[in-house]
Amino acid sequence: MQLPTHARIVIVGGGIAGCSTAYHLAKAGERDVLLLEQGRLTCGTTWHAAGLVGQMRPSRTMTRMSKYGIELYGTLEAETGLATGWKPCGSVNVARTPERWQVLQKQAALARSFGVEVHLITPDQVRERVSFMRTDDLQGGMWIPGDGKANPADLTMSLAKGARNRGAKLLEGVEVTGVVVENGRVAGVRTSQGDVRCEVLINCAGQWARQFGRLAGVTVPLFPAEHFYVVTDRIEGVHPMTPVVRDPDGLIYFKEEVGGLVMGGFEPRAKPWMVDPIPSDFQFQLLGEDWDHFEILMNNAIHRAPCLETAPIKMLLNGPESFTPDGNFILGEAPELAGFFVCAGFNSAGIANSGGAGQLIAQWVLNGEAPMDLWDVDIRRFAPFMANRKALAERTGETLGLHYAMRWPRQELETVRPLRTSPLYDRLAARGAEFGSKFGWERANYFRRPAAAPRPEHGLGRPGWLDWVIEEQRAVREAVALFDQSSFGKLLLQGRDALALLQRLCANEVDVAAGRMVYTPMLNARGGFESDLTVLRLDEQRFWLLTGSAQATRDADWIGRHVAAHEHVTLTDVSALTCVLSLMGPNAAALLARCGPDAPPAKLGESKEIDLGHARVRAARMSYVGGPGWELYVPVEMTRHVEGVLREAGDGLGLADAGYYALDALRIEAGRRAWGAELGPDETPFEAGLTVGVKLDKPSPFIGRDALLALQGQPSAKKLLAFVLDAPEPYVWGGETILVDGQPVGELSSAGWSRAAGRCVALGYVRGPAANEVHAGTPVRLDLWGRPVDARAWDRWVRPPA
Ligand SMILES: Cc1cc2nc3c(=O)[nH]c(=O)nc-3n(C[C@H](O)[C@H](O)[C@H](O)COP(=O)(O)OP(=O)(O)OC[C@H]3O[C@@H](n4cnc5c(N)ncnc54)[C@H](O)[C@@H]3O)c2cc1C
Repeated sequence: MQLPTHARIVIVGGGIAGCSTAYHLAKAGERDVLLLEQGRLTCGTTWHAAGLVGQMRPSRTMTRMSKYGIELYGTLEAETGLATGWKPCGSVNVARTPERWQVLQKQAALARSFGVEVHLITPDQVRERVSFMRTDDLQGGMWIPGDGKANPADLTMSLAKGARNRGAKLLEGVEVTGVVVENGRVAGVRTSQGDVRCEVLINCAGQWARQFGRLAGVTVPLFPAEHFYVVTDRIEGVHPMTPVVRDPDGLIYFKEEVGGLVMGGFEPRAKPWMVDPIPSDFQFQLLGEDWDHFEILMNNAIHRAPCLETAPIKMLLNGPESFTPDGNFILGEAPELAGFFVCAGFNSAGIANSGGAGQLIAQWVLNGEAPMDLWDVDIRRFAPFMANRKALAERTGETLGLHYAMRWPRQELETVRPLRTSPLYDRLAARGAEFGSKFGWERANYFRRPAAAPRPEHGLGRPGWLDWVIEEQRAVREAVALFDQSSFGKLLLQGRDALALLQRLCANEVDVAAGRMVYTPMLNARGGFESDLTVLRLDEQRFWLLTGSAQATRDADWIGRHVAAHEHVTLTDVSALTCVLSLMGPNAAALLARCGPDAPPAKLGESKEIDLGHARVRAARMSYVGGPGWELYVPVEMTRHVEGVLREAGDGLGLADAGYYALDALRIEAGRRAWGAELGPDETPFEAGLTVGVKLDKPSPFIGRDALLALQGQPSAKKLLAFVLDAPEPYVWGGETILVDGQPVGELSSAGWSRAAGRCVALGYVRGPAANEVHAGTPVRLDLWGRPVDARAWDRWVRPPA
């Protein structure tokens, strides 16, 4: 077939991601789709995948996506006539340790809540399903009958055929070598065989996606790692419907193939594949065997399936696969370049995820907006600094192993840290700060007291740091605490049309006096929260936008794409120019009075510049944690000075350092919702019970208003509630399933310890009919690691009983 000179949509890469994307675009009626593959279809990573396909994902939306993929794989052969190797053999996840068993039980409850059929089974029942497995050291297993396996190459060819049947063109042997950009958007591609004009380009280039993105200045943070499995000869008792087995405590999985086993896994420290750039002729190729590196997996596998000790090994396969800094794949339109989409970085789950991901990216391209809340995988969760190759290689060494590692609640990643630090970092560290990392920023989670105390071990029960965090909460409620919140995202929007643009984007009225701060949602056309932020009007044409630490790229993208051609505005990410020091608590006013002659603003939402020590800072009367408090916006270079002044002035006022664990618990106690937990593109202000920042009657219309007007007064599909545990002992973390009459009705979105209540409090959505049946005072149960604990719902936040 001749290379056309024009196609509306060009897809780069003919692995499973590219073929699924082509299939779904064509299925949605898009006729002008051209897929270009430098080698032959599947020749990159896809051809040598093991082919495990599971449904369970940590979030509701991602599980919905993978469930769709399984439905597709089950019907594709009938549609295209090409075999996929799909076998619904089910899967068994087993637990060796009591803690893993608790985690499996939590996952099982969540799976049921997400509509996945799962059964918790005994070790004997595990053995009934997988006769050659050793089960005497197991706590139990989770049986998922709907899971299965496929032949990755056949499946991909079947998707390709489905795409071709519906009019898509798939060409092999064409390398895309450049991207043509005109007027700030994709206009075409250069290839080894000539140029092709296009409107949309989708980067499905697998492990090449980072270097391909760089051709157009697009950040695609992924890096390849060597990834292994062994293939055995036939083994007695192994048959085609042998379930897929995952033994995460042993770091291994296995599945049947041609009467033998394919056994692989996720070793704790992986080997990044250090080749740069990845050659374009790396086609149907593998990397060298490394038995030393594989030994830990082999030993664990022999323990679990003793037949492996004598089974003839046909090969140790080592193929590269791409991994991302957080272990989630990358989807969406690049913030750097309009018309440039990405669907890549599958972290060894590209066969399982591509069916759903291809559908989602097709919808995103065709509708111009993500079809649902895809924040977990959204390309805008990254920033250009994250494309650093040394950092990516080091992080990849860590993230591969996280697949099966025991993930403790609040566990932080360890590599590539510290990277972004506030000027106070060393001082806070010396005072015992235990840091977490968000968007590259080091942020104090809590303070060890004394500072030299060891970091408590991770666990599933009441955390070892809780008493310190309760002390921090006490300071906020009874004295004064200092939070370093410098990681906040900060955007400066200025220009003649800045106000008009913001009025269109913000649900609240932002045409306010200079110095005034306005909390406002930015909604999508469905009425869901694209973001919620604070707008500070500096003067007539300048606005400072304060948003979540990880949201700067996303919000800048959302704002940028709504600027009309005739509008004059400039948007600048100024996150790293200003630090944010928050003084919270009843003694905050007295403390500030000691720091200079200017009184800080008294009214909530007011801000003004004040002298503080020898510096000028902006003080804003704000409170995310509830109660009195000010946020101080301090030029970076004066932050150490200001902190020194505050500290000295705090003498005798009970000033304490406090971190994000206390902040989170306090905001839950105060009923404040957080974007990414309670708020997201799929939640409306009605569902979130957060209409305070929505002015349906403001003179200028805003995005999402029509949707809200249509929804007003209608019964909601879900409702946010607060929950208070009945007993003080159980510790909930968030993510627990909410049960009414034994049935799952939703999950906790956030949880923390309330000092005021003397027990855990939480926020969470109840869904379906329960949204109209669960009210303040309704008793519910929470599934805590498989054990039901009693709690009570509150329909709007009231400070819990002391
Ligand atoms: C050992 C191993 C076991 C695995 N097991 C599983 C499993 O059990 N289950 C599972 O879900 N996943 C598994 N995976 C992961 C899975 O294989 C990948 O996630 C998936 O194949 C990625 O598909 P892709 O289409 O993104 O990338 P690829 O298959 O690599 O496709 C990308 C394509 O883009 C082409 N390309 C790149 N640059 C250009 C260019 N400039 N011009 C034209 N073409 C270009 C490449 O040639 C390549 O064919 C495994 C991976 C490995 C290595």
